[in-house]
Parts: sequence; structure tokens; C-alpha cells
Amino acid sequence: MRIDLHTHSTASDGTDTPAELVRNAAAAGLDVVALTDHDTTRGHAEALAALPGTGLTLVTGAEFSCAYEGISLHLLGYLFDPAEPELLRERELLRDDRVPRARAMVDKLRELGAPVTWERVAAIAGDGSVGRPHIATAMVELGIVASVSDAFTPEWIADGGRAHVHKHELDPFTAVRLIKAAGGVAVFAHPGAAKRGRTVPDSAIAELAAAGLDGIEVDHMDHDGPTRERLRALAADLGLLTTGSSDYHGGRKDVRLGEYTTDPEIYGEITRRATGAFPVPGAGGPLSA
Ligand code: AMP
Ligand code: ZN
Ligand code: FE
Ligand code: FE
Repeated sequence: MRIDLHTHSTASDGTDTPAELVRNAAAAGLDVVALTDHDTTRGHAEALAALPGTGLTLVTGAEFSCAYEGISLHLLGYLFDPAEPELLRERELLRDDRVPRARAMVDKLRELGAPVTWERVAAIAGDGSVGRPHIATAMVELGIVASVSDAFTPEWIADGGRAHVHKHELDPFTAVRLIKAAGGVAVFAHPGAAKRGRTVPDSAIAELAAAGLDGIEVDHMDHDGPTRERLRALAADLGLLTTGSSDYHGGRKDVRLGEYTTDPEIYGEITRRATGAFPVPGAGGPLSA
């Protein structure tokens, strides 16, 4: 079983449509893929519709933007009830706030002499929840930076960078509570991704574990070997599950679907804990009966 529990589509800042993501995940030999767009579940319907015949199982989810004492972090929510009103409202607040925030970043870029337009950024984002990778793509088109990741520097739009503007973020304790109340499972995404900015101390992970956090993502491209070992030991201490995932963004990030995967036993435990939604198998595929 090959299981990848963290991917993005055009419903946020990935470049595959949800249907393309499903087809590419099946073609990559995955058995299970989770669709976890930033602050939205809008891609789920299209992904579910694309499943039949692929043999792939879809885990529905989202990646929630949070901040702990001013430090941004991401919480993956899996298999929560998408109709649960409180969590639905929070997703809408998070997603809607991204528009004025992105516009403010475009204004800052223009003041810095980078002629990015909101119209172009909005066109790149389409109906997906707009984020910095869309702005970075517009900057690449204009030749301001050579690649999407080159825009994530202090000079431009990295956390605290010259053109960075904060977005609305959830308190992670609230996020864990709401994900669990909606029948979901909460996993801290890339907690040691130091190259993206400040990371939270282990004590914060311990507090979140005490508040109901289920697991932490350990095998991730932004974690080096020593970081993975440290996080695995921390998870063992705190009784947390450990996952591995690609955090695939299509062409916007240099990682393949299934490049990092989650142990089938841990996946089984995640599905047993979830009560808000269930993995959806797509019939067919090489293993079909
Ligand atoms: P936002 O949600 O708008 O604040 O943008 C954050 C997104 O930008 C994350 O989902 C990452 O995938 C992406 N990102 C963050 N840091 C980098 C980086 N150094 N290079 C490329 N993408 C990045
Ligand atoms: Zn992203
Ligand atoms: Fe993330
Ligand atoms: Fe992600």
C-alpha cells in the first residue's frame, strides 16, 4: 500500500485540477491519496467524481492556516464532516481573508517596483484560495524572480519579507478542537520546516498533543535527517502518530506524488479515529476483484 496524505490542487495553490490530481496519483502507483488544499474543501467534489475506475482511495481533508504566538503553522485535518457549521465558517473566514491580503501584497510589490497586477494574480489563482505561490508565479512570469521558491526570500514575500502581509490564521488549539468536533483527525504539517521561517518549540507540540492533536508529519521534503529523528522521538514521547507525505503542489514545487509516504498501519489508525467522513474507494484499477 502506498499512501500519500498531503497534496494540493487548483482549489488552492497546486497546479493540477482535482481530477488531474486523482489521475496522476493513480498513475504514480498510489493506493491512497489525501486532498488537503489550504483552508478549503472545494476540490473534493471534483476529486470524488474522478475516482471511479482508478482503484485509488481518496481521503478528504484540508490544511488549516494557524499561528502559535506569532509563528505560522499548518494543521492537516482529515476526514472531518465538511458540513459541520463552525469549521465551515472558519474555512470561509480563512479563505476570504486571503483576497484582501494578496491584494495588499501586490500593492507592496508595486511600491517596490515589481509591476505585478492583482488582475494577473487573480487569473492565476482562478477559483482556488489565493496564496503566495500564485503571486510568486506572477513574479516568475515577469522575470522578477527565476522560480516560485526564489520569491520566498526576505527581499520579497517570505514570512516577514518586504512585501509580506499576514493572513488571518486560526489559533491551533481552536483548530484542533474544531477538527475533532467535526469528527476529523488532526496532524501537524511539517512542524520542523525551518527554511520556511520560525518553527514552534517542542513544548507547543506537547501542549497541542494534550489538547487532542493526533499526529505530526515527519517524512517531508522540508525536514532533514536529524529533524526527522528528533520529531520521531518526540512523537514517541507524546504518543503521537507519525505520517509521511509529499505536500505535492503540481508544477509549483519540486516534489513527486508519493515521494514520501505514510505507513499503512498509521493510515489504518487515522481511519479508525475518524467519524466525520470516510475514505472513498474508487473501484477498478489493477487490484480490483
Ligand atoms: P500562503 O498560504 O499564501 O501564506 O503561502 C504559503 C504557501 O507557500 C505554502 O503552502 C507553501 O507551499 C508555499 N511556500 C512556502 N515557502 C516556500 C518556499 N520557500 N518555496 C516555495 N513555496 C513555498
Ligand atoms: Zn501550498
Ligand atoms: Fe503546509
Ligand atoms: Fe501543504
